[in-house]
Amino acid sequence: MGQGLYIHVPYCRKACTYCNFHFSTSWKTMDDMVDAMRQEMAHRMGQVDSWQTVYFGGGTPSVLTAQQIQSLIDTATSHAPLQAGAEVTLEANPEDVDDRSIDHWIQAGVNRISLGVQSFEDSQLQWMNRAHNASQAVDAIKRLQDAGLSHITMDLIYGLPETSLAYWQDQVGQALAMDIPHLSTYGLTVEDKTVLHADIASGKISKPMDERSVEDFMWHRSHLREQGWLTYELSNSCQPGFEASHNAAYWRGEAYVGIGSGAHSFDGQWERRLNVANNPMYIKAMKAGDSLGFELETLGPIERRNEQLMTGLRTDLGFQRSHAGKWAETLDHLWSDAIAKGHMLRLEDRWKLTDAGMMWSDAIAAAGFITDNTDL
Ligand code: SF4
Repeated sequence: MGQGLYIHVPYCRKACTYCNFHFSTSWKTMDDMVDAMRQEMAHRMGQVDSWQTVYFGGGTPSVLTAQQIQSLIDTATSHAPLQAGAEVTLEANPEDVDDRSIDHWIQAGVNRISLGVQSFEDSQLQWMNRAHNASQAVDAIKRLQDAGLSHITMDLIYGLPETSLAYWQDQVGQALAMDIPHLSTYGLTVEDKTVLHADIASGKISKPMDERSVEDFMWHRSHLREQGWLTYELSNSCQPGFEASHNAAYWRGEAYVGIGSGAHSFDGQWERRLNVANNPMYIKAMKAGDSLGFELETLGPIERRNEQLMTGLRTDLGFQRSHAGKWAETLDHLWSDAIAKGHMLRLEDRWKLTDAGMMWSDAIAAAGFITDNTDL
């Protein structure tokens, strides 16, 4: 049975105002980081027989050189082969996409690009402190398509301050007009300790309105379905046949290996591994081959069941009744309010959120969480 491989590249050109991921804008450790990631692969990959998918996430993986990307793929596949037709995704930012880089990525085995567009409007990209402008995003998409890459997905952010529904309709319309087969759409959230948080506190930027996010979300979900798309997860929609295999395996609770500083891994059962989210500490630990570079977390049956419920409800498959065991009738009761409000459908074999319910998926899931082993 193959597994997914996630490779976290914790470097970016600039710090986007809204971002709280693990990344650094100082690249001086990049060569050592790639060596450390290859060492981590060598330590850990004895158990894996093949790779179902490979995903370079970040951070900004497209800031790696072609040789660095190639060496990471070569190291991974020297331990376990890629399955036939395996999806190999690289997250890229538009400013890193040119004909040379695309050629190198394809030669290295990348067959899917996730492009961090976020907006097709320069004024929005500027306050986000993105490193690209709108015309670079359009140019990047055309170049990727001209190179024959059909599996392209794009990140767009909705619910932006001082925008209107017309703004969001235009953004999605531009993506569709370019024949992009997959979209990842994220509502803007204001995380603690971000520049955006400080800018809102000082009045430099207005606070995003919940109503804006709700209206944008409801519109794109129904609009995309009218265009024949599948709105298959809270943040992911695609033309049929373009679902993201790597992410879908996470949602099904399958095992995956995460390599790099800040990466998580899961054994598909009870154990999660959390690599230290600190670049120098990670590099030092991997070089020494010691255990200081990660923590292990053991999940109990309660955590597993609650996670399954939360991730299931974010997908169009919903949460299966067969997974609820003797808790099924209690869930009908706990979710009666969500069902009455039209936020959830109780189907014969599962519970499924409506578009209106998706906006509150975490709260609805939490209402159905088990807290006691005897409920299982
Ligand atoms: S490029 Fe991505 S990971 Fe890097 S700061 Fe911006 S949003 Fe965060």
